[in-house]
Amino acid sequence: MYLVELVCGDVDCAESVEQVGDLARLLAELCDCGCTLQIISVSAVEVCEIRTPLERARARRASSLPLAA
Ligand SMILES: [Zn+2]
Repeated sequence: MYLVELVCGDVDCAESVEQVGDLARLLAELCDCGCTLQIISVSAVEVCEIRTPLERARARRASSLPLAA
């Protein structure tokens, strides 16, 4: 996942947008005015790890196990 900042190539429009998603798809995006968008910046976005309550309990149990001697 990428956070991409794009600006419209048309100087009269100069619309800028921020989008999150797949880089290849974002590169194919067009401005509402029909011009191609140019990338200003790209940053990778970490997808937060979502743990279910069961996974949290497992992780807690694992970390509280005494170390084998
Ligand atoms: Zn535009």
